[in-house]
Amino acid sequence: MRIVKTQVDETKKRENALRIIRSMIKKKGRESLFDLTGLSGGYPIKEEDIKILETYVGPAIFEEKLQELGKKHLGGEKVLAFNRTTSGILATILTFAKVGTYVVHYLPKPPSHPSIPKSVKLAGAKYLEYYDVKDFPDNTSLIIITGATMDLDVMPTENFEKIVKMSGDIPVFVDDASGARVRTVLYGQPTAIELGADLVITSTDKLMNGPRGGLMSGKKELINKIKSTAHQLGLEAQPPLMAGMVRALEEFNPNLLKKSIKRKRKLRKLLEKDFEGVEETPTGIKIEPEYLKQKIKTDLSSKDLAFLFSMILLRSGIITIPAVGMPGASTTIRLDLSSKDAERIKLEELKTIFLDAFSKLKDIVKSPERCKEIIYGAKNDQN
Ligand SMILES: *Cc1c(COP(=O)(O)O)cnc(C)c1O
Repeated sequence: MRIVKTQVDETKKRENALRIIRSMIKKKGRESLFDLTGLSGGYPIKEEDIKILETYVGPAIFEEKLQELGKKHLGGEKVLAFNRTTSGILATILTFAKVGTYVVHYLPKPPSHPSIPKSVKLAGAKYLEYYDVKDFPDNTSLIIITGATMDLDVMPTENFEKIVKMSGDIPVFVDDASGARVRTVLYGQPTAIELGADLVITSTDKLMNGPRGGLMSGKKELINKIKSTAHQLGLEAQPPLMAGMVRALEEFNPNLLKKSIKRKRKLRKLLEKDFEGVEETPTGIKIEPEYLKQKIKTDLSSKDLAFLFSMILLRSGIITIPAVGMPGASTTIRLDLSSKDAERIKLEELKTIFLDAFSKLKDIVKSPERCKEIIYGAKNDQN
């Protein structure tokens, strides 16, 4: 039996998750929730920023600050902000990928972020994906390197260097959505620009307390071309987003990120006594859906088990991606300890919630009706 079968089902599940969040905030306040997705979309703007969130006045102020802070964070000659990392990827590919040529994407492991192959298709170019340092075809117009994947697999420094060396005159663009912090702060690697990339983009929402947005830096001449594409298609960040990025960069503290490493090790140790399937991620711990499937006797799919587990955790205030993610998002259960809310919860408490949720899950799978209710909510609450 399958409970969540289609993307429409996933949307209904997400609506129920948001309904639960809404009701918890009403009853017990925001403090009753702990967003451990690592994607909390912080928006640390100040009173004085609000007055200048205007179409032309805003960029006059925020663009200058963003140049300074963005270059400090990423290196490069000029900075450009986007509505999302995806928007920056699209603008770059549309600018450089010529019709009929190849765009070659090197990444440590699959999967690629879907925005890269989709954008290449829109540009009318041909897409190649490599998981090791292979030579690329002659008529290649753009080389993309993913610094750290969505699963936080990291590209080794020596591969970066080899690819940059091979690239010759072809622009090298690095998707460092989380990599700009995972690779540098947690793995001690140089920035993408220091490694010789021409362009890099990062997400101000990943491993830092900023809004969801894309921050790009690189060679001035290339950035100017991308900027023109971005403005024509409405992909650039608007003043409120720029203000949020500026403040998040001002506040960014790599030491807090490093501190999360110690805490995640401790949490892994606390959990592994009862839960041998727990694995470490760079900033937290994770449980794969397949592990749940191994441990629980049921006809339900591993994905359904992950959705159920995540929805049960949510009722105890713990927000994880399988409950709130967009359709198609990963079903791995992750607790990210670099999240802002992670500082408010004791690891022992987190362990108790986690183990309780797991025993509830084992019980609930016996009743299909109960499973449906956990995922979609009571019948008369559903839209
Ligand atoms: C998150 C991510 C993106 C896209 O970021 P959005 O904010 O969703 O546009 C692109 N590439 C990688 C590797 C990512 O992890």
